[in-house]
Amino acid sequence: MNQGKPGEVTRGNCKEKIKESVWDKALKQLEDTARRINIEPGALEILKVPRRCLVVSVPIRRDDGQIEVFTGYRVQHNFTRGPAKGGIRYHPDVTLDLVKALAMWMTWKCAVVNIPYGGAKGAVACNPKKLSPSELERLTRRYTSAILPIIGPEKDIPAPDMGTNAQVMAWIMDTYSINQGYSVPAVVTGKPIEVGGSLGRDKATARGCLYTVMDAAKKLDFTLEERTMAVQGYGNVGRNMAELSTGQGCRIIGVSDINGGLYNPKGIDITRLSRYVDEAGTVFGFTDADSITNAELLELECDILVPAAVEHQITEKNAPRLKARMIAEGANGPTTSEADEILDDKGIFVIPDILANAGGVTVSYFEWVQGIQAYFWSEREVNLRLREVMERAFEDVYRLSQKEKVSMRQAANMLAVSRVAEACRLRGLYP
Ligand code: NAD
Repeated sequence: MNQGKPGEVTRGNCKEKIKESVWDKALKQLEDTARRINIEPGALEILKVPRRCLVVSVPIRRDDGQIEVFTGYRVQHNFTRGPAKGGIRYHPDVTLDLVKALAMWMTWKCAVVNIPYGGAKGAVACNPKKLSPSELERLTRRYTSAILPIIGPEKDIPAPDMGTNAQVMAWIMDTYSINQGYSVPAVVTGKPIEVGGSLGRDKATARGCLYTVMDAAKKLDFTLEERTMAVQGYGNVGRNMAELSTGQGCRIIGVSDINGGLYNPKGIDITRLSRYVDEAGTVFGFTDADSITNAELLELECDILVPAAVEHQITEKNAPRLKARMIAEGANGPTTSEADEILDDKGIFVIPDILANAGGVTVSYFEWVQGIQAYFWSEREVNLRLREVMERAFEDVYRLSQKEKVSMRQAANMLAVSRVAEACRLRGLYP
């Protein structure tokens, strides 16, 4: 149970009590940010509340003929700067509060990298690993038809998140298109290339995260060559981050997934590990490294720590023991507010989630643009444009943090919320 409820957080199999829910944290961050910038009280009230929360029931027939009813969500936090944008998560413990928080963070993420979107998030409370491929397809199509009235290329554009992938996006695109009577590739991003996906989208979140690490390393005056890195989570973000960082000369000394972690101070052979994970479906059991827990992984002595799994992994309890010099938040919301203050006091340079993992939504934006124009770019062009966007966003946030003498997280929030609040002011309030 790690999906944003107060009271409990899970690292792998280990549970810990926490005080705040993810939604409490998102609201607290917004209120703290509003105190630091000049925002109208009315605009703050608007931004505290999602514009739309849709809760749907998703009945499907299981392969054995039984009917099972799942709960689905789509929350649209804001549309002021453009259509809403955000992933869809399949996970057993998702709640409306968690989806609300993730949707709000999407608004800030799109604003921090300055792409013309608002924020949204969707989810179905299910364990995709316990569904057959045909059950997963029926679930996806039924969920899509339930949220169909509020999504669309000019309204709200879903994308993959935990538990969903390019195939799920293809089913969403197909279901939406059949209901419209013609193909609408721009209704989702993160699709397979064959149905209008963008080259480079699969690795974009990790690539963007690596770009922010490279920019931070320049500011901290160190090179990535031979730097040690520990990565929590070996899925889309974590695995690609480990693979791409190895290419930059980093030594990956620790990795983990929900089943546990691995440690090898000499560096884990990531090519071999990824091949192993393709077969075994987990990092667990890989030889050539010692077994460690997720809790131990986070506390490893390393230069760069990349939490790339779930929320609330770095808490007031383990933050004092963290030894990394830099943390790049591949996951959304991996650090609690209390832990944040401790990391700040320890002088750990934190690249906050809304900046560190914004590469995914940035290339999603490129995919949407390419889909609308029906004109596709080379992978080189995608990566170059991603580099440009991430570099500018990093520099904007870094400069603001220096100017205002605040943390990178506070600066990213200040930049994002002021951009959205200014757009609110310019558009005015209807009627
Ligand atoms: P994924 O499903 O591909 O991988 C998740 C990984 O985390 C898996 O290895 C899983 O075993 C591990 N994990 C799950 N629960 C865990 C736990 N309690 N303890 C330790 N490990 C656990 O998901 P992903 O797409 O890589 O997303 C990871 C994080 O990155 C999420 O917070 C997601 O919101 C965020 N994110 C993803 C994208 C994207 O493009 N995929 C973009 C931005 C942010």
